[in-house]
Amino acid sequence: MSRFIVPKQAKSWISIPSDSDFPIQNLPFGTASMPNLVDGLIVPIGDKALHLVTLQEFGLLDQDVMLETFLDLDAVSLSKLRRRLFDLLEESNPELRDNKKARTKSLIDLKDVAPQVPIPPTSFVDFYSGVYHASNVGKMFRPDQPPLLPNYKWIPIGYNGRASSVFSSATPITRPKGQTKGPNDEAPTFGPTQEMDFELEMGFYLSHGQEPGKRITCSAAEEHILGLVIVNDWSARDVQRWEYQPLGPFLAKSFATTVSPWLVTLDALEPFRIEGMEQDPAVLPHLRHHGKPHFDIELEVWIQTQRMSKPQLVCSSNMKHLYWSPSQQLAHQTSNGTPVEFGDLYASGTISGPDEGSYGSMLELTWRGQKPVTMVESGETRTFLEDGDKVTMRAFGQGDGFRIGFGDCTGTIVASR
Ligand code: CA
Repeated sequence: MSRFIVPKQAKSWISIPSDSDFPIQNLPFGTASMPNLVDGLIVPIGDKALHLVTLQEFGLLDQDVMLETFLDLDAVSLSKLRRRLFDLLEESNPELRDNKKARTKSLIDLKDVAPQVPIPPTSFVDFYSGVYHASNVGKMFRPDQPPLLPNYKWIPIGYNGRASSVFSSATPITRPKGQTKGPNDEAPTFGPTQEMDFELEMGFYLSHGQEPGKRITCSAAEEHILGLVIVNDWSARDVQRWEYQPLGPFLAKSFATTVSPWLVTLDALEPFRIEGMEQDPAVLPHLRHHGKPHFDIELEVWIQTQRMSKPQLVCSSNMKHLYWSPSQQLAHQTSNGTPVEFGDLYASGTISGPDEGSYGSMLELTWRGQKPVTMVESGETRTFLEDGDKVTMRAFGQGDGFRIGFGDCTGTIVASR
């Protein structure tokens, strides 16, 4: 499919702060509730947001598409819609700019918007494609073996997660209870996790699926992707350690996953495409692809405890540290003929970089609790997250004079109930 890239010099008639996540080059999509308007799709632009149903009511958008949800939209129609929105917002276009009634009604303050999960997912798959994360976990838990298991460079490792606990940004995260066990022969106990962690991940949503028995190839995969989001795959490490063998993660992961509010389209991310890291050994033919299937997207994690007035940066990473691309993940998922459908959510796995400051979980940042992180402002230390701690993840492609951002993906830990 052809991609619509907004020229980097393009400007909107709306004034946009230079550090905004949402310049006219971005135009991501979300669903939200807001005062005096029906719930529906909105598009942030600078400190404002466009309410698409209202634009439609004023005859400024295609009337055939339902814009309360993403249901009527695939990657192609979303791209067309985004192109039309660009036209309406471009500085020389008077259609919306000079239509005071339409402009006043459709353009709302972003701060008044309560974003929801872009699409409540029908299913959720979590991969393990961050090669530095996988290596770090291997070094910690299997110190006498090679860091990566023998299958790692042949298949994108993943598991089917739980869709019912995918939450919108800012949803409080209740500290889960679970079974944990000490290192000796004592019996396990049940109680609040003592090793509450985040996982810095990126994810993608499917626009349309595939029927049973067929597969989506690597070269067709991106046509099925509506857009990318940040994913925080909250984890209870002590629960995970006791339960994960032999079938993998279960309750240590299924209590909560937070996604960022805006679906950032692959069109907007075109300027940040990269080949990605070399895959050696060469992967099997059904997982091979050409071109630039990876993205150079900066990732950050910030923590603010209750005693701090502002958050502290604890991790700077990049989406380029994925060993397996989104296309390969989808091709692998469907390679056995499993059906997939609109709204399926796929998360990448924790994206750590090669250096200590780029690790995407507390497990790695503190190296299993051995090196606590110091909060400079308050003097507190953290091995894992405590009640009241707020975690904010950010992601952005840094262009020449503009930034394609994802908005904040936040969650605050609250005490077990
Ligand atoms: Ca994960």
